[in-house]
Amino acid sequence: MKVPIAGGGTATAINFDNAATTPPFHAVMNRIVDFAPWYSSVHRGKGYKSVLSSDLYEKAREMVHEFIGADPSQVVIFTKNTTESANLLAHVLRAIRPEQIILSTEMEHLANDLPWRTGFKTDYVRVDSDGRLSLPNLEAKLRAYQGKVGLVAVSGASNVTGYMNPLSQIARTAHRHGAKIFVDAAQLASHAPIDMKPVNSPDHIDYLAFSAHKMYAPFGIGVLIGPMEDFTQTEPLLAGGGAVGLVSRQFVEWGPPPARHEAGTPNIIGLVALTAAIATLNSSDLRSVHAYENGLIRYAINGMKAIPGLTLYCIPDQEQSEVEDNRVSLISFSLKEVSHGLLAEILSGEAGIAVRNGLFCAHPYVEKLLGLTQQELEYYHAHEDIVVPGLVRISFGLYNTSREVDIFIDLLTRIARNPR
Ligand code: PLP
Repeated sequence: MKVPIAGGGTATAINFDNAATTPPFHAVMNRIVDFAPWYSSVHRGKGYKSVLSSDLYEKAREMVHEFIGADPSQVVIFTKNTTESANLLAHVLRAIRPEQIILSTEMEHLANDLPWRTGFKTDYVRVDSDGRLSLPNLEAKLRAYQGKVGLVAVSGASNVTGYMNPLSQIARTAHRHGAKIFVDAAQLASHAPIDMKPVNSPDHIDYLAFSAHKMYAPFGIGVLIGPMEDFTQTEPLLAGGGAVGLVSRQFVEWGPPPARHEAGTPNIIGLVALTAAIATLNSSDLRSVHAYENGLIRYAINGMKAIPGLTLYCIPDQEQSEVEDNRVSLISFSLKEVSHGLLAEILSGEAGIAVRNGLFCAHPYVEKLLGLTQQELEYYHAHEDIVVPGLVRISFGLYNTSREVDIFIDLLTRIARNPR
């Protein structure tokens, strides 16, 4: 695809912004076109198209359940996106265990931070000087709260540093202290295999969420998985048709989950598209996807390390091979004397390279990586006209190539040599 660049020309678009949203697979686009004439309301009619749509809707649920290795006692609930999934889970847990402490982490996207700030006491597991989650601090906090932490809410992979968290270890630690674990898998689901494991295993995952639009399907579908029992105990966040059994003027009988938490007409096209994306990812084998993308990010990191004035967040030199294996395919960086906004503009304007810049909806984490003080943050907060410091992020999908990385490194090197 060609995009306009500075000077009136065009360039072949290079999309290094896959952590924000991935473009759809061809198989996904074809499936949407094939299915479009056939969609109809779900679970509402006996006509052929309605029955077909209902069937595909439930097949999508089964496919997602299998894709992430959920336990039979866990239910898949469809939402709009990861953000809505986390908010729904917060709503459910507020209703059934409001007194519990929620332990989130300093490296979370706001979707796995802000929903917990309402109605719960919250605390945050620290990250170390490399930006990695501190497992000793997790253990220390769980111990200090003496069994009062009900949930450890952690990302599967960071959208800022790309670090993959050791979920097995975190789950084991949380369970040992009587807490459950919620994994925000938005940045993990399309980059590495996930296994929630049987609930009788000490390192199983209790709740998990992800978004279809970060795994090569369109916007508008999110997933929340968790114990059926928890979702049975609460009223829905969104009330309306589809969520109920019988209703009269005097009473409302809520239906069983998952329908109870899926009020309103669902996005069946989005779900059919998601099943096509999962089928494609399964056939590519997520282990191979991870290995390929890892090679690409290692290649990019090696090239970027040679660029004068460039800081990478965060690659400790001495641990490089270990770090690379435990990351998804993104890296954030800054360039001396070039603001993040300007750098992103130049990359797009001169070579059609799409990147993301700013705080990546993970403000506290980026602020910490940049070493911003509370006083500085208050100053920026009070002066909206001043540009807040931030980073630039490249993030790869399975279709990106080393040739594209070369074009990026060439341009970045030229910018570094002639900062404006
Ligand atoms: N969690 C992480 C780690 C993310 O990177 C994102 C989006 O960038 C989200 C949650 C929120 O996803 P969505 O906007 O699809 O709700």
